[in-house]
Amino acid sequence: MNNACPCHSGKPYTACCQPFHQNKRPSTPTQLMRSRYAAYSLGKIGYILKTEAENSRSQSDKAKYRKELKQYCEMTSFIGLSILEAPTPTETQGFVKFHAVMHQNGRDVSFVENSYFERVNGRWIYVKAMA
Ligand SMILES: [Zn+2]
Repeated sequence: MNNACPCHSGKPYTACCQPFHQNKRPSTPTQLMRSRYAAYSLGKIGYILKTEAENSRSQSDKAKYRKELKQYCEMTSFIGLSILEAPTPTETQGFVKFHAVMHQNGRDVSFVENSYFERVNGRWIYVKAMA
């Protein structure tokens, strides 16, 4: 299927992550997580930056980070995504544990991460990976 969502949900992109990439707010951390994975796959750097916690990077560091993100997206194949655990979030905090299957230059760079999300002004954002 040509228009399958890059988050590997099995749904069409238009009925899955595209609305979030077009400004709709994800209502759960899982939706945000999936839409961020899809954004990495599509190289939507603006969306990745917009949906993560503000940090104290300087302007020049931000430009560098943006460039690194772009390179990372370009050199990585985003092959699969499984949600392992997604406990019901509170009003302002949530966790999503996932397995991302990815390749770089034929090397397997897959990983499992437990991501921590916060809801700020009604909008879910990615904060950090938990140990
Ligand atoms: Zn999706």
